[in-house]
Amino acid sequence: MRLGLYIHIPFCSFLCHYCDFAKTANYDSILVQDYFSALLNQFRVLTRHLEQMSGRPVSFSSVYFGGGTPGLFTTEYTSLLNAVYEHLDPGAEITMECNPKNLNQNALDAWKGMGVNRLSIGVQTLHKKGLEILTRDHDASTALRALELAMHAIPSVNMDLIYGWPGQDADDWVSDLHQLVNSGVPHASLYSLTYEDRTPFGRMARRGKVRPAADEALVDRYVAAREILGAAGFEHDEVSNWARSKFTCRHNWLYWDFKHFLGIGAGAHGFLPAGTSAEAMAPDGVDIGMRYSFPRDVRTFLRRAPDSVISESLTSVVRELGGEIDEGRDLDSALIEYVGGALRTRHGIDLSLCEKITGQVFSPRPVVVEALKRGIAWRDGPRLRFDPAEWFRENSWASEVLLSF
Ligand code: SF4
Repeated sequence: MRLGLYIHIPFCSFLCHYCDFAKTANYDSILVQDYFSALLNQFRVLTRHLEQMSGRPVSFSSVYFGGGTPGLFTTEYTSLLNAVYEHLDPGAEITMECNPKNLNQNALDAWKGMGVNRLSIGVQTLHKKGLEILTRDHDASTALRALELAMHAIPSVNMDLIYGWPGQDADDWVSDLHQLVNSGVPHASLYSLTYEDRTPFGRMARRGKVRPAADEALVDRYVAAREILGAAGFEHDEVSNWARSKFTCRHNWLYWDFKHFLGIGAGAHGFLPAGTSAEAMAPDGVDIGMRYSFPRDVRTFLRRAPDSVISESLTSVVRELGGEIDEGRDLDSALIEYVGGALRTRHGIDLSLCEKITGQVFSPRPVVVEALKRGIAWRDGPRLRFDPAEWFRENSWASEVLLSF
């Protein structure tokens, strides 16, 4: 059974005011040690159970350490990675997320020695005013130095940038994009700033203390990114992700292509085969899988994590480990998930998969037919793809596609 592996490391040395990830800056070495022990236990229990359930060995094609700030740690990963290595495909992609300030030669040497072969660095912007507004703890020169050092050690580097922050104008964004291109990084993840409810930014927006960027401005930023990165030779993989040839992120494609992955750690989500339970099967036997998540709060996560489990079914094992199963998920929601994600990628939507899930033949609605005529969407064997300009309007296209079954 081939899967991806996502490992959440929820510790940060500071908290950014826009961030809605599961994280804490309130920790000590004992908590960290307990956390890594719990991760190892979760990993062992879940892989053993998946092997028993499927009767096949579990192997991982990619491992992604996300956070939080996984780059805060080095030797802490040893036991966990030793266990992971017993299940790793040859040539597996292993990504470590890090921040410019934690990146130094010692950390890079340690990660490289552990087999990390891809880095994702949270730069966010190279503008002083943007870094201040986003409450980041690095400056632009630290970020540029970190990128150079990183690429020297591990050439497959992603740079995260954020657009639409308060006060950012079109020129600020264009200069961030040019600096990204000049830095030589082969992968870019560009996200528009969001104002999530439980963040300080969300509260500020609710009180009118900050005004989110207008939709037109965000579209302009997206268009600028497509133009500048396209001209520099990047391929547009997904609405927020660009890669130079051979540097696409294999782990990301698991999410976009509806492939299974094991998620462990506080706040981690996972998507696993559901086995043969009737409610998880589409009409002609497609397994729509089972989605689950673990508690976001580290201390709750640790309190609920047992040393051993006694259950036999996958859902019960996940629950015993403190996880919550997405019970409301059915064929319709699985289809919405898949279409919404795949539509915004260059692989597009696998219509034959949708037909298997729905048991219905694809019969395009007039507006989809019109899009095909106008060349902003096209059929390619069983795939329906949309022009990248349309990926930004995924919501409206997704409903048209869904109504075509
Ligand atoms: S953006 Fe990254 S560094 Fe900042 S609080 Fe969130 S996880 Fe931590």
